[in-house]
Amino acid sequence: MLLKANVTSNGAVLLGEHVACDSHEKTRPLRVVTHAHADHMNGLQQSLKNCSTVVMTPATKDLIDILKGPRCLLRGNVKAVEYDKPLTFDDERLTLHKVDHILGAAQVLVEDAEGNRILYTGDFRMANTPVIQSDLLVIEATYGSPWRTRNFADETEHMLVSTVKKGLKQGPVYVFGYHGKLQEVMQILHEAKIKAPFIMPEKILQITRTHQKHGMRICRPLFSTQHEMQSTLHGEAQYIAFYHMNWRRKVGLDKFRVCVSGWEFNVPCRQTGEREYVVALSDHSDFKGLLEYVRQSKPKLVITDNYRAGDAYALSKQIKHQLGIEAKPLPA
Ligand SMILES: [Zn+2]
Repeated sequence: MLLKANVTSNGAVLLGEHVACDSHEKTRPLRVVTHAHADHMNGLQQSLKNCSTVVMTPATKDLIDILKGPRCLLRGNVKAVEYDKPLTFDDERLTLHKVDHILGAAQVLVEDAEGNRILYTGDFRMANTPVIQSDLLVIEATYGSPWRTRNFADETEHMLVSTVKKGLKQGPVYVFGYHGKLQEVMQILHEAKIKAPFIMPEKILQITRTHQKHGMRICRPLFSTQHEMQSTLHGEAQYIAFYHMNWRRKVGLDKFRVCVSGWEFNVPCRQTGEREYVVALSDHSDFKGLLEYVRQSKPKLVITDNYRAGDAYALSKQIKHQLGIEAKPLPA
C-alpha cells in the first residue's frame, strides 16, 4: 500500500492527498491547525498565503486571534469548522473530532475515495478523548517511552488544591503553566471552592475570557493588575496569580510558587525549593494512554510523530512488541 500519511522534516503531518496538519507543506491545498500550541502552528503565515483553506475549530481561531493578534488570520481563507462536521474536498472527506488537550484541540480524520480512514491524533490526553477507528494512524509521541508512565493520576488534582491552600496560609500564590493548562488549574481551584481572587496578565485574562466564551464556568471576578484588584477588594492580601511558564524566573521570586508540568512521573507533587512546588498536571497521555489509544483505534499501520518533542522510536517499538501492529517513526 502506498503510504497515505507522512510526517515531513518540517513537521507537517500529511493525510491523504490534500491535507497537511500543524506545519506548512507547499503541495497541499488544505492546512489544518489542530490546536493553538506553538509547535502546531509552524509555517502558519505561509499556509495563510498559499493554501486554498486553513481549517481549525472556532475555539482555536479565537485563541490564535489573541496569541497572534486579530489581523493574523485575516491574511488567508480561514474556515472555522465545528467538531464532527465533515468537510469535503475533491474525493476526500475531512472531519475534526474532539480531543482532551487544550480548548479547541482536535484530532483529524481523512477518509479517501477507497474508504481508507487516515487519522492524526494531534496532542491528546487519553482520559476524555473519544477514540476514532482508523486504518492508518499518526500519533503524538510526547511520552512515548515506557518509563513515562504515571500511576497517580487520581491524586494530582487533590495535591494541587492542598498545595495552593498551604501557600495561601502564607500569602499570595503564584501559579506557572502553559496556555490552556493555567485555565484548567483555575477551574480545579474554583471547583475546590478556593475563594482567593485570581489575577493574571492581560493576555492570560483574554485567553481565560475565551475559555469562558466556550463554556468554562468560573463565576468570579478576574483581575489583570494588583491595583485593580486591591481597589475593588479593599486591600485583599491573599490572591492567586497566574503566569505563563516563560515568566517563572521573572516574577513572584519571593512568593509561594506552584509550577504545573507534565514532565513528572514519580510523584504527583514535588518540592523544588523552600516555597516552590511542581505539580504533575499533564495535558498529554502518558505511555500507557498512547498504547491504549492505538489498541482501541485498531489501525493496520501506525506512524509515531518523530518531529515534535518525545520518543517516537520507543513508542513504535512498543506498539510492535506489545500490540503486534506495524509501526514506524517519521520523519526517520
Ligand atoms: Zn499541545
